[in-house]
Amino acid sequence: MITSRKFRFVVFALVLLTCMFPFASCQKQNFSDDAIGAVVTILPQVEFVEAVGGEKVAVSVMIPPGASPHTYEPTPSQMTALAEADIYFSVGSGVEFEISWLDKLLGINRQIILIDCSEGIELIEAEAHDHEEEDHEADSHDPHIWLSPVNAQVMVANICDGLVQLDPDNREYYQQNRDSYIEKLQAMHQDFSDGFSTVENRVFMMQHPSMSYFARDYALIQLSVEQEGKEPTPAGMASLIEQAKEAGVRVIFVSPQFNQDNADTIAREIDGAVEYIDGLARDYADNMRGIFEIMMEAMN
Ligand SMILES: [Zn+2]
Repeated sequence: MITSRKFRFVVFALVLLTCMFPFASCQKQNFSDDAIGAVVTILPQVEFVEAVGGEKVAVSVMIPPGASPHTYEPTPSQMTALAEADIYFSVGSGVEFEISWLDKLLGINRQIILIDCSEGIELIEAEAHDHEEEDHEADSHDPHIWLSPVNAQVMVANICDGLVQLDPDNREYYQQNRDSYIEKLQAMHQDFSDGFSTVENRVFMMQHPSMSYFARDYALIQLSVEQEGKEPTPAGMASLIEQAKEAGVRVIFVSPQFNQDNADTIAREIDGAVEYIDGLARDYADNMRGIFEIMMEAMN
């Protein structure tokens, strides 16, 4: 009797264990159980998602600090994290990383919800490519939509819609957070508009032309050291120096992700300066205010 009871207990325990293991292996490893697992492409989106999602969301970013969205490739551990996420917020405007990787990444996780942050934003056509490759219509937009407090408001609203879709019970929480962060962005936009309205020379030069949307918002003119995504030729450099002199440019803005040698050369030739601005900082709102201060100082 005792042996048989023991046997039955062992069988029971084995059945129980077998039943439990699939659950154990299904549990999310990278995101805590009660938080929504969100993945974004670039660091400024981390602030957007955290501003709306608060403690209800755990955010993971694909392009780490210092890497370029134009060239970065995801790591195996990022792919694993993605397999366990609930929602992906893409930039959506033709960032090279997303063009090359998004389909593959989403293929890893068929349950994931995809939210396109660029929905509702009027995209700017990319500057003319050399038309050797014919099939690039899908990526012929300037991808840098986030560097505009006006566009950022649309991105934040899209993020809120995505979180509400995934977690409708907390609709009010997300919408209140959205409204207060958008208010902050709108105040910023107002300050920038007021500030730039007093600037007489409206031309600035960038090593990498990431400020097209910003320039559109404030009626500024962006000149680019890069020509069609490449370093300028010697003839191109000569004409840039000429252009910069004519336009009275005094500062060339460079970003940490890009080579600044040509910017240094032009700055020397025009007797100007090189200033750093980082378009991919994680603390988006503070960083944009900083960029505004630097530009006001440089252009006034
Ligand atoms: Zn860029």
